[in-house]
Parts: sequence; structure tokens; C-alpha cells
Amino acid sequence: MEQERTNRNCPLWGTETCAQLNMRACRGCPADGKDARECNDIREDVDLFNSLLPKEGIASLFMGEACTLCRGAEKGKRESYGLFDMGHADPRDRKKKLSLFRRKTYGFVVPLQFGCCRDCRRRYQLLGWMPMLVTIVILGGTLLIVSQEPVAQSLRGVWRGLPLLVMLLAAAASYLAGKGLVRVLRERFNRQTYMDLKDHPMVQRMQALNWESIVDGKYPQPVFTRKRLSYGVGTAVPRAAEEKREKDGEISD
Ligand SMILES: [Zn+2]
Repeated sequence: MEQERTNRNCPLWGTETCAQLNMRACRGCPADGKDARECNDIREDVDLFNSLLPKEGIASLFMGEACTLCRGAEKGKRESYGLFDMGHADPRDRKKKLSLFRRKTYGFVVPLQFGCCRDCRRRYQLLGWMPMLVTIVILGGTLLIVSQEPVAQSLRGVWRGLPLLVMLLAAAASYLAGKGLVRVLRERFNRQTYMDLKDHPMVQRMQALNWESIVDGKYPQPVFTRKRLSYGVGTAVPRAAEEKREKDGEISD
């Protein structure tokens, strides 16, 4: 892909910072229309951001053709991407320590883009759907039975509120069954796929460097997409790999 970075007057034109910002075009770039001092601030930000990341960078997650969510030695073929945002406090921001009540903010946010095979994505999606599926089956089944007049009559014969109570119990049961099933399946899927991203070697390296998941919940889900984010900070392919690719004669789009 030929980037349209045409503004040769930009103080950052052709620099490493420009490569790291990885914008499609000069228009819309954070450095667009900025003077030398402002561009220097941007360069400092980008350098700081890079210094906070693991040394080897994060492009290995999306550069290869193999799935990076598969656990075993044999990896599936990458066919989509699982996006997972991580955040880091700005080390220059010292006010944070003084304010107990301020909401936690992140100075830096980076999307981890896990190359993902069909099986891994399906496992994640199945877990996402499972609670609703279980609810539909149990609650729907109970409703079908309770709504039969003879059944409803005999239930009401015991106590007028019993049909409703049965439905409430079914709702509670489907909630618990959904949770239980998700737990069992997650454990099972976890043998093949990193179902808990906090176990993933890259996420662990990031956590050791004080990055944390911005996505709430005990088991944050990646967001799946067919095409990865190809511009913006944290999405650039390292120059060495890019040059090698060009040398190998791979025609980029
Ligand atoms: Zn996989």
C-alpha cells in the first residue's frame, strides 16, 4: 500500500516518528498543520509510547499468517483479527497519585491485534452466545409447558401464584446453568485457545510493563474483525520486516 504522505514541509516528514504514526495520509495525521514545537511534542509522545512497549514490539501478533491465539505447537491459519485494547498511565502524569477520586485514566492506549484462526474465533463467539442460548432453551421450554392449560390449571390448583413462581425459578435456573456451562466450556476450549487473554505471553509481557486491560470483566473478550487496523500508532509493521517483504517481491496493496 503506497502511503500518501506528501507534505514534505511537515517537520516530521520521513522521520521514524512519521513511520510510527503510520497514517494513511498527511491529512488527518496528528501532525497535520502543526509547527515544529508541536511536532516535537508529538515525537516525544511517540518515543515515550514506544519505550513503554515490549522491546520486540507488538507487530508479531498480526504480521504472520498463523493464529496467535492457538496454544499448541500447531497453529491455525489466520483468517481474522481479535482486537484487544490495553492502556498505560502516562509516566509524566504525577497528579494522578494525589487525586484519590479521579477516574483511572490512561495516557496511552494500544490495540493488540491477535491474528486469529476460525476455530479460535468460534470458541470465543460460542461462549459469548451460550448464556442467551441456554436462557432461550430453558425459559422457552418451561413457558411451553406451563402455558398448557391442564398444567397451568393444576399448578394454580396448588397455589394461584405457582405458574409465575415456576417461571421465576426457570429464569434463575437458566442463569445458573448458563454460567456453569460457560465455565466448563471455557476450561475445555482453553486447552486449544488462549481463552483468558491474561494468560497470553504478549499480554503478560505487557502487564509486566504496567499495561493493563481496558476492557472490563474477568475474561475480557477480543473484538473480532476481518481486516486489521492498518493505521495509527501501534499498527506499524517494523521497517526491517517491511523492507524484507518488499525485497521478497511481495506486491503490497
Ligand atoms: Zn487459533
